[in-house]
Amino acid sequence: MRCPFCTAHETKVIDSRLANEGDQVKRRRECISCKERFTTFEVAELAFPRIVKRDGTREQFQEQKLRSGMLRALEKRPVDSERIEVSVSRIKKLLTSSGEREVAANDLGEMVMKELKTLDHVAFVRFASVYRSFQDVNDFTEMIEKLQKK
Ligand SMILES: [Zn+2]
Repeated sequence: MRCPFCTAHETKVIDSRLANEGDQVKRRRECISCKERFTTFEVAELAFPRIVKRDGTREQFQEQKLRSGMLRALEKRPVDSERIEVSVSRIKKLLTSSGEREVAANDLGEMVMKELKTLDHVAFVRFASVYRSFQDVNDFTEMIEKLQKK
């Protein structure tokens, strides 16, 4: 693999280990020319269902979009990056193992909410409030009260 620093063609693997509950292989590499070190992640390439939006349009599933949505909800919350990645993987696993060619955006939203609920309640409420676009304030308040009781 080419060195991202000096673009030399020869780099060597100096460490290799499983990451993200075994779904990824993380490799530390060192450039033979400039000695800079960098990390690569190896993941299995899987076919994802297309996402059907509320207006009926379809789009390719975008992992980056999923992650940034979750990160936005988790902004300034005390949640470990590793745990967020595990959640992202879990959602991806659900999507690929369903065997469906298409999944409703709504179902994907529910998967995200389920994960956020276990990660951080504030993030969950943030996401849910935007996602479910509550009918009125009462729904919203009701949900927060329910969460606080737990
Ligand atoms: Zn280099």
